[in-house]
Amino acid sequence: MLKKIRCLTGDIFFRIEDSFGKYKLNIDRKIVSILMYHGLETDPGRLVCNYLDITPESCLKEIRFYQRQGYKLISIDELDCLGDRRYNNNAYLIISFDDGFLNTFEHIRNWLKDEKIPVMMAICPELVENNGIFWWDEVRARFQLMKTNTIELEIDNGKSYFTKNDMVKFEEKCERLPHNNLLSLLCQLRNKTDYISEDQIRDSKYYREIMKWDDINLLAEDNLFSIASHSLAHELAINIPEQELKENSIKSRQMIKEKTGYDTKYYVYPSGKCSEKTDEVLSQCGFTHTFSTDASTNYLESIKIRLNRFRGIGYGSTNLRYYAHKWNKEHKIMSPIS
Ligand SMILES: [Zn+2]
Repeated sequence: MLKKIRCLTGDIFFRIEDSFGKYKLNIDRKIVSILMYHGLETDPGRLVCNYLDITPESCLKEIRFYQRQGYKLISIDELDCLGDRRYNNNAYLIISFDDGFLNTFEHIRNWLKDEKIPVMMAICPELVENNGIFWWDEVRARFQLMKTNTIELEIDNGKSYFTKNDMVKFEEKCERLPHNNLLSLLCQLRNKTDYISEDQIRDSKYYREIMKWDDINLLAEDNLFSIASHSLAHELAINIPEQELKENSIKSRQMIKEKTGYDTKYYVYPSGKCSEKTDEVLSQCGFTHTFSTDASTNYLESIKIRLNRFRGIGYGSTNLRYYAHKWNKEHKIMSPIS
């Protein structure tokens, strides 16, 4: 209860300060900030299950908030022109959505058309092609539907036990494994819960459908829409051998070009996991820019290949997990000069 009151007052103060222009940017050099979003969801039950999703309303309000601060929205394709005279603003904002969830489609379509908001969408072409399921959505659904209280799995030649409530622990474990080991662990999980059908997984609140090529192509009709590779099937760049990163990233680029006509030069790291080495490899594969999840802004003069991105958490709204004071705190890190 006390927490709720604190959050509510934090929210009110934040809105008052915002309306008085307290957060207006005052900077003397060019910066590019990038917001990262995932799904846009209105169902409260689903919002709780997918913690990166926010409501479309809070997403749009957040974008508007940054605009009020003095940010000018640009498409990622304009990034290389920012040194030109006609770009006489100092702060630029790029909006990015990861994973290509279908629940973003209608909103992005309207925002491109009616609100003139440029969007960069990072997709995994192999998953789009196969109407695939992101592995963590499957893991969450399997844990939820599991009939036993504990499951025994073999990891690194040892036995590990997970209870029904350990889905987060299991996911964290998965993220640290080399990609092939992750795939075999998923196989074990599937075998141990083989009474759960694919339909049941797709019916689960943890499952989020992804866009098909037709949907992506409809969005791509708008010049404000850009596409980035997000690997082939969300394999983490640091968890696969260098040769595989090369082959997969080139293949993902080719698939995107073949299916949409868009020749992407952008690589959005799944889960933001990257290194200087992976940047180097991707640069050799023709990518001009890579994108991390390091929450800080980018100074135009120091942009080389990698760009940092902030996680968009939504502006107030009904999504009560993200309170304004948290938002406020993240925002302060963002402004180079307060
Ligand atoms: Zn992703």
